[in-house]
Amino acid sequence: MKIIAASFQCESNSRAALRPGHGDFEYCEGEDIFKKMPVKEYLVENGFEVVPSVYACALPSGNVEEKIYRFYADKILKTVSENADADGIFLFLHGSMEVDGIGSGELCLLKAIRRIVPRSCLIALALDLHANVTDELAEYADIVCAFKTAPHVDQKETQLRAVKALAFCLKNSVRPKTFFQRIPMLVKGDTMLTSLEPLKTLEEATRRLEDEPDVFGANLFFGHCWVDAPNTSASAVVSAAGDRAERLAKDLADRLWNTRKEYRFTIEAQDPEESVRRALSGTEKRIFLTDSGDNTTAGAEGDRTDILALFVNAKPEKAVCVAGITNETIVKSFWDLPDGKTVTLPLFGGIEANVKVHGKILGWAKDIIGRSLTFSIGNIDAIFTERRAAFIEKGNFDLAGVDLEEYRVVVVKLGYLFAELKPYADREIFVLSDGASCVELSRLGLKKIIRPLYPLEDFTWSAN
Ligand SMILES: [Zn+2]
Repeated sequence: MKIIAASFQCESNSRAALRPGHGDFEYCEGEDIFKKMPVKEYLVENGFEVVPSVYACALPSGNVEEKIYRFYADKILKTVSENADADGIFLFLHGSMEVDGIGSGELCLLKAIRRIVPRSCLIALALDLHANVTDELAEYADIVCAFKTAPHVDQKETQLRAVKALAFCLKNSVRPKTFFQRIPMLVKGDTMLTSLEPLKTLEEATRRLEDEPDVFGANLFFGHCWVDAPNTSASAVVSAAGDRAERLAKDLADRLWNTRKEYRFTIEAQDPEESVRRALSGTEKRIFLTDSGDNTTAGAEGDRTDILALFVNAKPEKAVCVAGITNETIVKSFWDLPDGKTVTLPLFGGIEANVKVHGKILGWAKDIIGRSLTFSIGNIDAIFTERRAAFIEKGNFDLAGVDLEEYRVVVVKLGYLFAELKPYADREIFVLSDGASCVELSRLGLKKIIRPLYPLEDFTWSAN
C-alpha cells in the first residue's frame, strides 16, 4: 500500500505586517523531507511504499499571500495527482495558517486533496496544539494528532503517532470518524504549559484515551489568538472508530473549559515601565526581559523600540543589551562606518550613539541571513538587524559580536525564554508589551472571532 508524506507549515499572525516570502521557508523535497519528518522507517518496515512530496516550514509571520500559498500547495497537489491511487496521505501542518483571500490554508489544502483522491484514501494529520481548527476539518481528515506539549518537544512523536494510526487503519480496514468540538475560550498561550496542572492531567487523559485500541487521536487544541478569524478558539478533536469520537471530544472539551480560570503566568509578568524599573533595581547577576508584544518567534516584526526608549530615558548604570531590533535602514545607513564612530541615530527625535561592532544574524534554519550593527548609547548596547531575527541562544549574540556575559540586563524579543538562554538568566521578567504578539486578548481588537469568548466574556457553557 502507498502513503504520500508532505509538510507545509506557517503559523500566521494577522496583526503582523511582514508576509512570509520564499526565503522564510525552510524547504526540501523528495527523500530529503524524511530528514525533517521521521516517518519513513516505520512505514517501510510495516510494508508501505512511501512517496515523499515537499517539506516547507516558515517562521511565524503575517498572513500568507495567496501566490506563496499556491506555490507550496501546488507542489503537494502535484504529488497527490501523480499518485492518486495512494491508500493514505500523511500531512504535517501547523493548523493556524491564514491565507489572504482564502482563510485557513490547511482547510483549503485538504479540500483540494479530497478533490483528487477518493474517499477511501485515508488522510492523517499531525498538527500544532496552537491550531485554530475549523469545524470542516473533521470532514476531510480521518485521523488528527496534535502535539501534547507546550512548549513543544513532541513534534517527532506526534508525527509518528499519526502515521502509526494511519498504518493501523489501512491494514485493518478501519475508517475512523473525526469529531470537532469548539470550546469558546482562548487563554494566553504563554500561560498554558503542559508540564503544569491542570494541563498535565488533561494531556495525560488524552494519552490514556489513545491507548484504547479504537481511539486514533484524542486532542486538545489551545487555539492561536493572533489570527482574527471565526475559527480562532480552543477545541477538542477526537478520531475514533465507530461512534465514540463525539462523546470523547465533548467530554474533553468540558474538562478544558472547566479549567479556564486556572491559567496564570508562572513567572514575573509586568507592564513595560515596571519591568524596566525592576530590571534596573534588581540585584541579580543577570536579568532577562522578554518583549512579548514584539516576539519575532510569534510573527511580530521585532522593530519596536518602546523598551529601548525606557532604558535610554533611565540612563542605566548597569550594562544593558537590547538584542535584535529589526531596522534595515539603520544597518544599511551606518554599515560603512568604523567601530567607535559617533553617529546620530534616527530614533526618539535623534539620539547620539557610538558604532560598537559589526556582526551577522542567524536565520531560523541556522544559516546566516544578514548583518547586525550594534550601537552603544551610554551603558546600553542596542543590536539592530537588517532582517528579522530571534536571539534565542548565546550563539546569536556571539555572531553579532557581543559578549552576552558582559551584561547585567538583556532584552530579547521573545515570549518565554528559550531553554538555551535560561542558564544565563538569574531572573526572567515577561514584559506585557504592545505589538503584533501582544498577549492581552482585550488589546488585540479581534473582529472576526465568534463571541462570547472567554476571557473577553465569562458565561455558562457545556459541550454536552
Ligand atoms: Zn505552537
